[in-house]
Amino acid sequence: MRNRRILFILAALILFLPGYTASGMVAFSKTNMSPDLLALFPNPDPPFQKDGNSNENQPEGATPKNVIFMIGDGMGIGQMEIARQFEHGKDGRLFIETLPNVALAHTYSANNPVTDSAAGGTALSTGKKTNNEMIAVSPDKKEITSILKKFKQAGNRVGIVTTHKVTDATPAAFTANVANRWADQAEIARQQFNGELDVILGGGSSYFEPESHNGFNLIEKFKEKGYSFAADRNELKKAKGNKLLGLFNDDHLNFTLDRDELKSQEPSLKEMTEKGIEVLSKGDKGFFMMVEGARIDHASHAADLTSIWKETIDFDESVKYATNWAREHGNTLVVVVADHETMGVSATDAMDINALKKISVSHEFMANQLKTVERTGEYTPESVKKVFKTYANIDLSDEEINQFNQKLKGSRGKVYSSRQVGWEIGSVIADHYHGGTLNSPTRSLSSTGGHTGNLVPVFAYGAGSEKFEGVLDNTDIPKIIAELMGYRL
Ligand SMILES: [Zn+2]
Repeated sequence: MRNRRILFILAALILFLPGYTASGMVAFSKTNMSPDLLALFPNPDPPFQKDGNSNENQPEGATPKNVIFMIGDGMGIGQMEIARQFEHGKDGRLFIETLPNVALAHTYSANNPVTDSAAGGTALSTGKKTNNEMIAVSPDKKEITSILKKFKQAGNRVGIVTTHKVTDATPAAFTANVANRWADQAEIARQQFNGELDVILGGGSSYFEPESHNGFNLIEKFKEKGYSFAADRNELKKAKGNKLLGLFNDDHLNFTLDRDELKSQEPSLKEMTEKGIEVLSKGDKGFFMMVEGARIDHASHAADLTSIWKETIDFDESVKYATNWAREHGNTLVVVVADHETMGVSATDAMDINALKKISVSHEFMANQLKTVERTGEYTPESVKKVFKTYANIDLSDEEINQFNQKLKGSRGKVYSSRQVGWEIGSVIADHYHGGTLNSPTRSLSSTGGHTGNLVPVFAYGAGSEKFEGVLDNTDIPKIIAELMGYRL
């Protein structure tokens, strides 16, 4: 914030009309810029153009009534830069970049310099470091109360929204306590049921169905408790009532990029965010909502720059919706963070943006098109050749196809082995078009499948947002929210 203020003030001194008093300077922000000066910051849709400062309606140091906590999973500065350049060009801006308060955060976990989403989510939800793979429990497996549960205990409404399974690490860290993220997602679903959340939107319906609960249908139990249920975007739009469960896929939701090809009926993250706020803001209680753009991380693991672009833009649009809602209604804090960075993604100048933008499906979709030789389990050279040519416009030589198959052979049995095919496809494409990411040997040695310890960005808008400043630890973020609310974490 301080740096941006200094930049604005300098720009004002050089270009702007005289006549600002010293105190006027302090309140100087994008909202009271002249049109000329605004042109220096060519956000395609500047959010803060009204009179007053950029935290309009949101008095400094105030206790927010509502908190919207938005997590771009794996969204480092590199992922944002890819999305910015692909979507708006080199002089454009993401909406997130227009938020008034900015900080950076370290993300290491209790037992590793690099966190996974379980320990990262736990730090963001409880303010405590734990070991990788642990969900809202301490390294010695004691349950820790999340900020979402604090809001609930204080009588507020609470909800989670994600493009992943609602039982996956990040949303689970806010709503459940389990010692291992992979061990029992049905248990996480049960805890979410008992936690009486007001809104649950995302994927993972398989963990709510009778097969996961000894014949006991958890979705039906939600309905009996008074929840509306939505299974696709149309039902979501029409859903009424004060409590809402929406499960739009048995696994995570499909990549934005694949939805046309798959004729998907899933809602976008922005549509889920919109509905989540609509339901949670009913009545006069405050609310806490966690929103996760989960698949930025999945795209990053595969070095899939095209999907990083699309997923980050969907997340950016969700942030824009939430921030504009906060601006209209006041007394709302919007915090935008990442749980960690993934694959050291960077926007190189050698990167062929045009070719990458022409890729019409994700690495995941391409992986599903490959055919295997029954005897060896290897992918047929014809299908490998065809997939790269059809979807990425790359002609692989026989030797490259052979290398592709050999690499996958070597990766069997390793962590995340089921996802390796898509990851190798993405890495071949990123290398071919010179995108900047970790290479695949480094990824295969990484216990997190390629996460990094890079600092992640933090942005904030609204009541209390000025507290987010400087270099923070990820555990500081929920602590700041708790402090603003008068809760003890
Ligand atoms: Zn990840």
